[in-house]
Amino acid sequence: MNKLFAFLIICWLSISSYASELAYHISFAPESHYIHVNLTLNDLKCEQTLLKMPVWAPGYYQIKDYPRNLADFAVTDTDGQPIQWEKQGKSGWLVRNGKQRKVIVTYRVYAHKQDVCEAKVDPERAFMPGNGVFMYIDGEKENPITVHIQPAEGWAHISTGMEAVTGSPFTYRAKDADELYDCPFLIGNHLVVKKLWEGHEYEFAIETPDGIEETTFFDDIRKIVAEATKLMGEVPYSRYCFLLLGQGQGGLEHANSQASFTDGSFRFQSRSHYLRFLYFIAHEYFHLYNVKRIRPIELGPFDYDREVFTAMLWVSEGINMHFETELVRRAGLASDEEVLDKMSGFIRRVETQEGHKHMSLRQSSYDIWLNFLTDNENEDDVCINYYFKGPIVALLMDIEIRRLTDNRKSLDDVMRLLYYSYYKEKGRGFTEEEFWKVCHEVAGTELTEMRRYVDTTTEIDYPRHLAPAGIRIDEEYRLSTPKQ
Ligand SMILES: [Zn+2]
Repeated sequence: MNKLFAFLIICWLSISSYASELAYHISFAPESHYIHVNLTLNDLKCEQTLLKMPVWAPGYYQIKDYPRNLADFAVTDTDGQPIQWEKQGKSGWLVRNGKQRKVIVTYRVYAHKQDVCEAKVDPERAFMPGNGVFMYIDGEKENPITVHIQPAEGWAHISTGMEAVTGSPFTYRAKDADELYDCPFLIGNHLVVKKLWEGHEYEFAIETPDGIEETTFFDDIRKIVAEATKLMGEVPYSRYCFLLLGQGQGGLEHANSQASFTDGSFRFQSRSHYLRFLYFIAHEYFHLYNVKRIRPIELGPFDYDREVFTAMLWVSEGINMHFETELVRRAGLASDEEVLDKMSGFIRRVETQEGHKHMSLRQSSYDIWLNFLTDNENEDDVCINYYFKGPIVALLMDIEIRRLTDNRKSLDDVMRLLYYSYYKEKGRGFTEEEFWKVCHEVAGTELTEMRRYVDTTTEIDYPRHLAPAGIRIDEEYRLSTPKQ
């Protein structure tokens, strides 16, 4: 046994016996768009501590290289004496703490990007997802973390899905790094509306609430939440937070919150604009089941150092598009005609672009790291998007399962079985084979043809698959039912 090995064993033994604690103190320089981070590391076990910052954010399948925004990294002991450190790779900082069990790390993060997975600080407010701000100790992601936030002068509210520490204002607690990175913060003077629905707390943090009192927004969300609960059979959180940011694009799902940009006002131009907004909020909301809990096995626990490849994002995103539509329809907020129109749009989009002959739904999932929000010139010629083809296949699967079971089962049962047997019983995600096995179990037979539509570029036989639901399709890909 060499000395290094003996040292590693001692480190390992102590790691398994108790956890280090990470205590963050966060403050802001709003005018210059900086977040100041002060991290106290307690109960360090080893003489060297490798701190890591993620390079991506779960749900946003693109390498963001967050450490590029970081400056002035420094480490001291409790007397303020400097401690040596060195950079390790693009997202690691190796701290040579020696016998020191407690050290203080400081750095600042430039935060001025408009994105659901990037921090942005300005004089009005701070939006702070954790991935580009917080670090974790390599190999110890299970360590508990506390975050104390010092709002800039004049900022009154902090909204987040993270648990507040009772008796300690502006202090929050995450049980591990995954929870830390899953709870973005909105800090400022946004409108805060709290609701108690069916024993669960809801917080709406709305940056630009102009016109909201003239809408039925809160009632509509309540109906959507009720439909999701009916579908899945339980609500797996005690509190859920809607962070509704100002004008912008995109949203990001979390286990008990969502961060979603809005039109910048609640004065929607038309009913269809409002409906689109409801679909979008329902989409991010349903993700709390589908992807945060019902998940491909690769998506958690997360490797924050590199891309995480899975061929099943069409399940997490494409099937989610199906359920965003279903929740809004079942809540009585969209008519059957509006839903068929939406689906026609997806079919037209897929079928009129050359890409559907060259990339399967499965491949589009796996290769998302190459194709997410890129502006490749030839994208439509060689790629498809699982946000469009995914809901088409999901609808066909739903119809097929209903046909095979005399309407006793549906795609709802697939989601429920995945949730209860993998998330709840086994406490893990599912493999591709397990996904199809669950479909088989629900339908009573293998969904061979559906799988072919996922795994290959086989042309979809729309008339035949839509007919059992009484849906017709014309040469312009318009969908209709006989009464229309
Ligand atoms: Zn999504």
